[in-house]
Amino acid sequence: MRFVAKRQKEGVNVSDTHPLVEASTLIVGLAAIFAIIAVALIFVVELALYFVSAEDEANLFGDWLPDDLITVAPNDERLYQTQLLVDRLASHWPGAPYTFRVEIDDSEIANAMALPGGLIIVTQGLLNQVESENELAFVLGHELGHFRNRDHIRALGRGIVLSMFFAVVTGNDAAGIGIKAADITLRGFSRRQETRADEFGLGLVHSEYGHVDESWRLFERWNIDGSSFLDLVTYLSTHPETGDRIADMKRHAELERWPVDGEITDLSW
Ligand SMILES: [Zn+2]
Repeated sequence: MRFVAKRQKEGVNVSDTHPLVEASTLIVGLAAIFAIIAVALIFVVELALYFVSAEDEANLFGDWLPDDLITVAPNDERLYQTQLLVDRLASHWPGAPYTFRVEIDDSEIANAMALPGGLIIVTQGLLNQVESENELAFVLGHELGHFRNRDHIRALGRGIVLSMFFAVVTGNDAAGIGIKAADITLRGFSRRQETRADEFGLGLVHSEYGHVDESWRLFERWNIDGSSFLDLVTYLSTHPETGDRIADMKRHAELERWPVDGEITDLSW
């Protein structure tokens, strides 16, 4: 018996499809997988909000600090005074499930943010902009409003999703979930979330001082004084347009019959 080896056809291991078509199919497929994972993770975050109470969150993140936070010296007077002010404002929120911690980021860009476990970060840039305790109190009260509505967890959830996505796409290390990731997504706070945080913050300010004078003065100055606009881009991109915002705050104060004139407290540094 003779064995005749059958010749293999040329290119048996090469697909009939053009390589460029294959590459684009792969990219589209990967993008679809990412999109599905992202939507699933956002859903998981929403689900977690139902099952993980604010108390659990406070326990889980009680000592947590973002990896990329660069703080001022721990004995900085501004840190001490800002913490005191947060404690005073929070005392008007009975049963608040968080022990609020203040950290001052050394960035010169004005910003403030609420992070998991009751962490409030304000930047040196913001502290340089405020001219009275009342102005600062409102910004802090607004952040307390985000905790109240747990907006910060939604933002962080999206932050984790996004940083993982960027890590895979850019090949960078995803281990450190820091301010930047949180900050990107804080921009995603809805107008509705911001308005609710404003109203809650105003209420705390009113409880503390008996009036809401200077609560929106910082924003009024920013509206007029364009010179420092560059510093404010971050804050403004995370917060509603100042003009509408001031009008909404005034309307809310009027509705609640909160005095808009009162004694102004100087900053103590
Ligand atoms: Zn906000």
